[in-house]
Amino acid sequence: MYISEDTIEQIRKSNCSTDETFFQAVEEVLDSLKPVLDSNPIYERHSIIERLTIPDREFKFKVVWMDDNQNIQVNTGYRVQFNNALGPYKGGLRFHPTVNSGILKFLGFEQILKNSLTGLPIGGGKGGSDFDPKGKSDFEVMKFCSAYMTELHKYIGPRIDVPAGDIGVGAREIGYLFGEYKKITSSYEGILTGKPFMFGGSLMRPEATGYGCVYFTDEMLKYAGKDGFKDRVCTVSGAGNVAIHTIEKLYAMGAKPVTCTDSKGTIYDPRGVDLELLKELKLQRRVSLEEYCEKNSDAIYTKVEDYPENAHHVWTIPCDCAFPSATQNELTEQDAKNLVANGCISVSEGANMPSTPEAIDVIKANDILFAPAKAANAGGVAVSEFEMAQNASMSKWTYDALDNMLEQTMRQICKRVHLTAEEYGVCGNYVDGANIAGFKKVADAMIAEGI
Ligand code: NAP
Repeated sequence: MYISEDTIEQIRKSNCSTDETFFQAVEEVLDSLKPVLDSNPIYERHSIIERLTIPDREFKFKVVWMDDNQNIQVNTGYRVQFNNALGPYKGGLRFHPTVNSGILKFLGFEQILKNSLTGLPIGGGKGGSDFDPKGKSDFEVMKFCSAYMTELHKYIGPRIDVPAGDIGVGAREIGYLFGEYKKITSSYEGILTGKPFMFGGSLMRPEATGYGCVYFTDEMLKYAGKDGFKDRVCTVSGAGNVAIHTIEKLYAMGAKPVTCTDSKGTIYDPRGVDLELLKELKLQRRVSLEEYCEKNSDAIYTKVEDYPENAHHVWTIPCDCAFPSATQNELTEQDAKNLVANGCISVSEGANMPSTPEAIDVIKANDILFAPAKAANAGGVAVSEFEMAQNASMSKWTYDALDNMLEQTMRQICKRVHLTAEEYGVCGNYVDGANIAGFKKVADAMIAEGI
């Protein structure tokens, strides 16, 4: 047997022992891969698991910038280039105080398999910083982005590594990063995706992850013989890029999304989330969701601290379909039990690894449909690849053409995951289906490329 306690111990030794989120992701994937590894000894002969679980390289660097009060600030910057068997390293940048190398390795590792599942020529990577854009002026964000790019530019390139956005990195940050790269290198190249449309961005990139997650779920419901979204009550966590566009597409498909959350609390709006108000608060003014109730007295706001630590208010609201779309490990075992008790039929991960392993066990044991992040939220990276293709050919696609390409891609991913699960005798298990399908393509490419 290829995967034993020794293999896992070796992976832990080869990587820093404090990277717990990373090991959580690796162990989940290895668990799914056992049947493939046992029936294909070629993967062991080529030491694929050992090679896949150590990044090709990791960069860690100091980022020094000056705030509006002329104080010198110091942050840590990172870029993890994990695997480029299928194409240039590709994966977002996260700016959040919780960022460390373990979290970026978890995200980079997941990104390899996610990018493989899209069927597009992109490898896996991730990066970011412990810098917190929240509460900073535009000028401070610009100063930080410039300082970060002063180092990052050495490692990226349109055929090498093409970062995008993630938590804390939206069009504003990507614009500043792009501007600094251009200044340093005098080169106008597609080295970032998620750029504003006026300088090479894709028209659909902001919507892609959220819309893609809804398309994927729609296809998954069909495979399970359930009707689509019409009149279904949905709960969504998060109030950022992914959550907002998930809510938008749910409305477009006839569903009623009733919640959103931020790091401070939850909004429950039984009549349906007021999307325009949400966009105003979070995309334009970047303020807390607490203000939602000032304009909408039917909604209920619950503070995070008013809820027990092991559970979250948003997952106690009865729903048909749940969309965790904020951050990792935000849906716990207790949350999953609450969803089951309230008759939820599907959970789709808009965020990366939002469900804990214990939560996934509860979801699976109760036959709730489960769309894992690496499949369900792959729409963002797929449209990023369309942006790379657009930049390389100096061309543009229309919004409708991109939306159509996104929808086809997500339905294809769902089909690939579904059929792989069926082939390996775990029909309906989309976790195993996604891990196996994503892995095989990368592993076969690694073998074909030699050592
Ligand atoms: P975002 O625009 O920065 O929004 C993140 C949202 O989650 C915000 O509402 C934020 O609350 C909340 N949040 C962040 N950290 C939290 C924490 N520790 N506890 C509670 N709430 C927290 O980010 P995003 O782009 O929507 O990304 C959300 C998730 O989707 C992440 O897991 C990301 O990796 C994943 N993802 C994103 C994309 C993409 O295209 N953007 C693609 C694939 C996967 P505040 O408003 O209070 O900060």
